[in-house]
Amino acid sequence: MGWTTGETIILREIHRGRIWTARPATVAAVTGDLLAAYLAPGTHFRVPAGTDHSQVVRRLRDGWTLADYTWTMARSLHLLMPDIGYSVHLWWLPPDWRFGGWYINLQEPIRSTCLGYDSMDQLLDIVIDPDLTWRWKDEDELAEAVELGLMTEAKATAVRREGERAIERLEARRSPFCDGWETWRPDAAWPVPTLPDEWDHL
Ligand code: MG
Repeated sequence: MGWTTGETIILREIHRGRIWTARPATVAAVTGDLLAAYLAPGTHFRVPAGTDHSQVVRRLRDGWTLADYTWTMARSLHLLMPDIGYSVHLWWLPPDWRFGGWYINLQEPIRSTCLGYDSMDQLLDIVIDPDLTWRWKDEDELAEAVELGLMTEAKATAVRREGERAIERLEARRSPFCDGWETWRPDAAWPVPTLPDEWDHL
């Protein structure tokens, strides 16, 4: 993971050879087999047009167009690790950096690109409160993906199994859940990152 703290990387999700999302982030830390990417409010993303979250699976099946989107929600840190089917996110609320919790995003293992990393969301997620109690999220979307033929039953089972491995890691308080990321803060001098011209080159 040959990036340097403060550099801009582009995190993209690719579905069936097309870009689903593209998000610029700032490299927050690179430690051994982990890269932390900071997503700051005010950053412009490219995301599928349409705000109806219930249509996500249908759009994945039927196609989508990309639209500009300005991220205004929480400050978020994405912890990316090679060769595993999830990333671990943390989020904090403005204005005082109140820690909101963790999030396990099930996704394809990251693939290195010239710009950063490509992957694809696997719909199922795990929401984790600051006290580390957890719950599944979007199990219905995973079921819908199987129903609509977007994912095989075997694939959905494998995604859930990867989530269970992440939960084992959480419950054993293994890295990154014991590394003190909750107290991480960005360098105030970092500008809000932007998408480079070649953001859509595959
Ligand atoms: Mg997800």
